[in-house]
Amino acid sequence: MSATRVLVLNSGSSSLKYQLLDMRDSSRPAMGLVERIGEQSSRLKHTHVKGDATREWTGPIADHDAALKAVAEELAKDGLGLDSPDLAAIGHRVVHGGQTFTEPTVIDEAVLAEIERLIPLAPLHNPANLTGIRTARALRPDLPQVAVFDTAFHTTMPESAARYAIDVETADAHRIRRYGFHGTSHAYVSRATAELLGRAPQDVNVIVLHLGNGASASAVLGGRCVDTSMGLTPLEGLVMGTRSGDMDPAVIFHLMRVGGMSTDEIDTLLNKKSGLTGLCGDNDMREIRRRIDEGDARARLAFDIYIHRLKKYIGAYYAVLGRVDAIAFTAGVGENAAEVRAAAVAGLEQLGLSLDPELNAVRAGEPRLVSSANSRVAIAVVPTDEELEIATQTYALVGHESD
Ligand code: AMP
Repeated sequence: MSATRVLVLNSGSSSLKYQLLDMRDSSRPAMGLVERIGEQSSRLKHTHVKGDATREWTGPIADHDAALKAVAEELAKDGLGLDSPDLAAIGHRVVHGGQTFTEPTVIDEAVLAEIERLIPLAPLHNPANLTGIRTARALRPDLPQVAVFDTAFHTTMPESAARYAIDVETADAHRIRRYGFHGTSHAYVSRATAELLGRAPQDVNVIVLHLGNGASASAVLGGRCVDTSMGLTPLEGLVMGTRSGDMDPAVIFHLMRVGGMSTDEIDTLLNKKSGLTGLCGDNDMREIRRRIDEGDARARLAFDIYIHRLKKYIGAYYAVLGRVDAIAFTAGVGENAAEVRAAAVAGLEQLGLSLDPELNAVRAGEPRLVSSANSRVAIAVVPTDEELEIATQTYALVGHESD
């Protein structure tokens, strides 16, 4: 029997998330995560889906090497070990692929060196991703391993969208341009939206709104990304859980000169203490809605600022695309917060956007339309599935090698 399983690994600075997928039916025999790696109270949570069992373990896990070995042991207990002949490949989420990686790539020494060269562009994420890859390669050096980049889907952006209007030599010397992130999600959701409409991706123009704790919008023209809201880093664009999104860059000079703040302090302010958290103290949309219902003015203002920015991007991407066939909401807020969807498209009837309030209120885990029958533009809710996308891209690249 040919190998049909793909292990998807997403390694953060102190965490390791994993899902094992069976590509015959996209099922997930097992999944889990290790948190607080390097601390005394590391935690491993493993779910064996087929056996309907969850095992949790708390104790010191020193590093990613120990974390992956612990995961491999848990998988082995369920007969799904890393040495299984059913395992076709390991797919790794890698945050920054720069301009180099426009597609998923089989990992070799040269690929590792290039991901390393890109560390200055993603100083927190790429080192963690590299550690995960090196650890997995040490455990299974013979197994094909694939890097799937968060930036890859956005490499089709034209220069007019990808460049900042700053001195070209300075920009190029420091590789400063708009790369965009969440690309795996934007790719998956734009394709799934076309499928929902029963049309080929190349015939459909979609605005994808990935609204999670991090949030980004993208304009997808016939299956190709032509603009996205995140930039050199994930800080640009929409109002997020803790990030400011768009802002006059001179705010930074002001904070340095007048506020006496250091670069690191401003970095933390804009990435961790801004957005919804900075505006009202909460970053969870459920909590914000609850406070609004109680008449809380700060929560109301935070919500209004969030929606105002979202609307500006819908309008901007409408203009970029010229013709829009669908707007797709995804991720934690986009999939669950009916009030956000309703507010984001309210008053946009002239643009052909009309929501059906009853459909919008339905909660479901499936891709679905929430627009009214007479809406010229389809409004869709499409649950994202980055692990499935990573596994699909990985398997497409190496699946045949394992037959
Ligand atoms: P993500 O980053 O995609 O996991 O999204 C996480 C965010 O989704 C949370 O911070 C909440 O703001 C939001 N969220 C999750 N569930 C709900 C819900 N049922 N209603 C509204 N917002 C939700």
